[in-house]
Amino acid sequence: MKVQVTGITGIPLIQKGDDLAAIICKNTTVNDGDIICIASTVVSKAKGYTRALADIVPSADAVRISGLTKEDPRFIQGILDSSKEIIQEYPFILSEVPCGHVGVRAGVDNSNIEGENIIILPKDPAKEAAEIRAGIKNITGKDVGVIVTDTCGRAFRRGQCGNAIGWAGMVAIRDFRGDHDLFGLELHITEEAVVDEIAAFSNFIMGESNNGIPAVKFSGCETWKGHDSLYFTKEEDLIRKAMTK
Ligand code: GDP
Ligand code: MN
Ligand code: MN
Repeated sequence: MKVQVTGITGIPLIQKGDDLAAIICKNTTVNDGDIICIASTVVSKAKGYTRALADIVPSADAVRISGLTKEDPRFIQGILDSSKEIIQEYPFILSEVPCGHVGVRAGVDNSNIEGENIIILPKDPAKEAAEIRAGIKNITGKDVGVIVTDTCGRAFRRGQCGNAIGWAGMVAIRDFRGDHDLFGLELHITEEAVVDEIAAFSNFIMGESNNGIPAVKFSGCETWKGHDSLYFTKEEDLIRKAMTK
């Protein structure tokens, strides 16, 4: 496989109402089978999934947690409002968001947005990915895959990586179960989280601060077969079980 990876330059500061599919097509050419990764930050800004801290009234819970984490109680309230289930409060809030993703501070960001505002993760990032994919198809006639990414911490290892939080035009996991290795041994366990691998490399191209590259194009990825059950169920998730015991 020979893959070409291109950071898409020329994208402006994204405002509410912007058409990301049109902006991407204006700044790069796409071909059938390309995969476009887009930072959740700009998806949220385009859709207006942002909140002014001044408009947030912190609850007693938010005030209590802010005493532990030393963060703005309004920011904490924004995190609580974005969470479906809180797994841990301190030293940082770790929670599940509505799409099933588990993230630090529910993925709420106060960077790469103007003024005293916060960026909330899209509630249904798969839908956002599908919408952008359809928009690109509409403009160019090309069938691309789209992955909405966020930079996330990980268990066991220092350092953040890009994760896929929503995708369209592909399945999340390449399933190797039933395949045979070089020596004919049947694989029983291996499922490769391809969407996360691609998201992680796109995050490397995007950077975290002022690169201004919120979208990355992958050309030449082979397709794969598998399924979309990227998130563990609560019963399967050993780390979550240990943390909430
Ligand atoms: P996240 O990983 O989804 O939380 O997004 P980041 O805040 O880490 O931003 C990822 C990349 O997008 C970085 O290169 C940012 O500089 C860039 N970025 C963020 N917002 C904008 C924007 O409105 N316009 C452009 N051109 N780049 C942006
Ligand atoms: Mn983020
Ligand atoms: Mn990031």
